[in-house]
Amino acid sequence: MKRIYNNINLANRNSFGVVEMASTLVEFEGAEELKEYFERYNPERWYVLGAGNNTLFTRSYEGVLFTPISRNRTILKDDGVNVDIRVEAAHDWDELVAWSVSEGLWGIENLSAIPSSVGAAPVQNIGAYGAEAKDAITVVEYFDTRSLEVKRLSREECHFAYRESIFKQELKGVAIILAVEFSLSRTPKPNLGYGDVIKEVEARGGATLVNIREAICAIRASKLPDPKVLGNAGSFFKNPIVEKEVAEELLKSYPDMPHYPIAGDDSKVKLAAGWLIDKSGLKGYRDAAVGVHDRQALVLVNHGGATGGDVMRLAGYVCQRVKECFGVEISPEVNIL
Ligand SMILES: Cc1cc2nc3c(=O)[nH]c(=O)nc-3n(C[C@H](O)[C@H](O)[C@H](O)COP(=O)(O)OP(=O)(O)OC[C@H]3O[C@@H](n4cnc5c(N)ncnc54)[C@H](O)[C@@H]3O)c2cc1C
Repeated sequence: MKRIYNNINLANRNSFGVVEMASTLVEFEGAEELKEYFERYNPERWYVLGAGNNTLFTRSYEGVLFTPISRNRTILKDDGVNVDIRVEAAHDWDELVAWSVSEGLWGIENLSAIPSSVGAAPVQNIGAYGAEAKDAITVVEYFDTRSLEVKRLSREECHFAYRESIFKQELKGVAIILAVEFSLSRTPKPNLGYGDVIKEVEARGGATLVNIREAICAIRASKLPDPKVLGNAGSFFKNPIVEKEVAEELLKSYPDMPHYPIAGDDSKVKLAAGWLIDKSGLKGYRDAAVGVHDRQALVLVNHGGATGGDVMRLAGYVCQRVKECFGVEISPEVNIL
């Protein structure tokens, strides 16, 4: 059933834990309710707020926030090897991963412990430890706010890329995702080639689904702050992509600087924003209520009582220092409202 809140405090609906208000927040179950709402009010300014783990409010939101509340999970097909499922947008992402592991289904185990709603997962094509949501997604079903119809996109039509999809491009401000379909498999496909995963998995006795999930949860817990304890939105900045010549020049002064090729573009190189921030001397830096996390410089944290403005001021300072030290521009990954 749809619920409409007016002048609602968003403190419990964003992982930074900043206190801001929204003029209207609509909790909806499905497309019928959205259609009715758009026909009746035709809102000019709106935003979909899932679990709020990648959204920073810097002022009161003068518009309508749409939050899905349907969280059903349905098995569409099971041929004994492959299992196709449909999961509604409000389903918790990590509960889905936990369920798939308990059912012996491979495909999303490396994405354990990412704080997300299922509906947000395709938006930035969440990824970690060498896996991305797109590897398992087959269909995304959304409400089109222009035609007021439900539409379905195949994986290819979603134009997934690193932290990218059509929902951040052409369909930004158009699509409200209702459900996502995934194809999982009973055939073991361990993906252990990233960072410390193989070491941690072997320490637990080998590449079973349970061991991989446990290893990844443990690695993440050792590096990333829990938003319930210390407000944050995960990586605050995107890894910058620079011209190859810029990277080569920097490597002369910093031979240990992490740098990665860009698939299909030899002229550019991706740098690690966390390393650049760390080497700018800002790991653990604190400015009153906000700071740079002391174990992962890519994460900005709310030590308690910070406003979105405080976080943005710190973000601006971090960008400025990185620019001064390396001449490289970094920009936020987080959605800023
Ligand atoms: C501690 C921590 C660790 C993290 N680690 C990772 C990581 O390893 N990898 C990674 O990729 N991300 C990571 N993130 C970022 C975050 O987990 C993802 O961005 C996640 O998808 C956010 O989900 P949400 O529902 O909380 O999104 P929100 O903040 O509510 O929304 C994020 C974006 O998705 C849009 N959106 C949400 N729901 C819908 C919908 N139903 N329809 C249309 N648009 C929608 C919003 O409008 C917004 O643009 C981390 C965040 C935290 C706090």
